[in-house]
Amino acid sequence: MSSHGQKSRQRSQLPRNPKGYDFVCIPFTKTVTPVSHVRKIGASGLAFSGRMDIEIKTLSPLHISDGTLRLSEELGFKKGFTVRSILCPEDPIIPGTTLKGAARTYYEAITKSCVSQFLRRMKAKYAENERGASTLPQELVRQIVAAGGEQRGVAEVAILPECFERIERCSPVRKRSSRLCPACLLFGTNGFAGRVTFSDARLISSPHKGGFLYVVPRGAPRLHRIGSASVAPGTRNTKLVVEKLKGRKVYNAKYEPNTPSQEAELWDYVPAGALFSARILFHDVSMAEMGGLFGCLGIDRKMAVTIGGGKSSGLGKISISSKEILAFPSGLMQRTSFEQRKPIDDRLGFIKQCKAAFIKSPFAYPKSYEVLKRICAV
Ligand SMILES: [Zn+2]
Repeated sequence: MSSHGQKSRQRSQLPRNPKGYDFVCIPFTKTVTPVSHVRKIGASGLAFSGRMDIEIKTLSPLHISDGTLRLSEELGFKKGFTVRSILCPEDPIIPGTTLKGAARTYYEAITKSCVSQFLRRMKAKYAENERGASTLPQELVRQIVAAGGEQRGVAEVAILPECFERIERCSPVRKRSSRLCPACLLFGTNGFAGRVTFSDARLISSPHKGGFLYVVPRGAPRLHRIGSASVAPGTRNTKLVVEKLKGRKVYNAKYEPNTPSQEAELWDYVPAGALFSARILFHDVSMAEMGGLFGCLGIDRKMAVTIGGGKSSGLGKISISSKEILAFPSGLMQRTSFEQRKPIDDRLGFIKQCKAAFIKSPFAYPKSYEVLKRICAV
């Protein structure tokens, strides 16, 4: 790593993190609330409905893929390359679904919620005494061989189901008494519509028209790295089980430009320093929930969340600031005419108040919120 990396580490007081991700703790259990509660708080006047306009600034190159490869000349670059295209290269956007997905992931991380997305098993190639050919560390390979496994092969790595016992994904909602975790209650799940909606983010300005980056694609982090792995006793097929998870993975890789190489792909991108604008709509959302949303997205603070492709290479770091908030007690919303609806004067005060309500709420997980703020600080 360069001396530049050294400097930034000293500044942030974070340990060296060559993997590009870190962990926030997982709560012991999730809190669950009947879905009928949402109507109740809406009717009680303790919940808010309205909208928030936000500005998104890219802190590192951003790549939201449209899933296609294009010829470089098609994208206005020098002829002769194949480039991984971004969504709407002429007028780039960040889809609302991408923003909502990111918000949900970060919200889950700071609340006592279920785990909606967690890779639970994967295959890992291994070989004894062949460093390059093995995706497992030699220490684990030796264990596999000692347990009667082949010297090289493919091992199944799986997380012990017990790790998820108390934070298992919420079941689809069938009746009003069905209970959901805080994240499912706010963002929705099967059979229950969420209460926050994100618009697509439109590009307002960009320092220049990207170009392309050399990116060495990296897969998901190996499962054996996210907990303590050992060979499952008594299994005929080579199997590793992972227990005592270190936590939920949060990306915080530092972006360092790559030079051309055999493995590198060319990716189109939106450069760092670009500005996007988007709108978040919410209805019947409590102050505490709103505080959780502000907090997890690092709105108006020096915090970066990551979206899009190449997260482990430091791509897709964004910071979000609020521009205007309109929030009405839900009951009042219907009785207020459009002309009467005015933005909140003391926006930052309102955000602070909401965050305080969040920290005090029973569904918050302040311990991991603190860790998240530290991991994602910029
Ligand atoms: Zn849930």
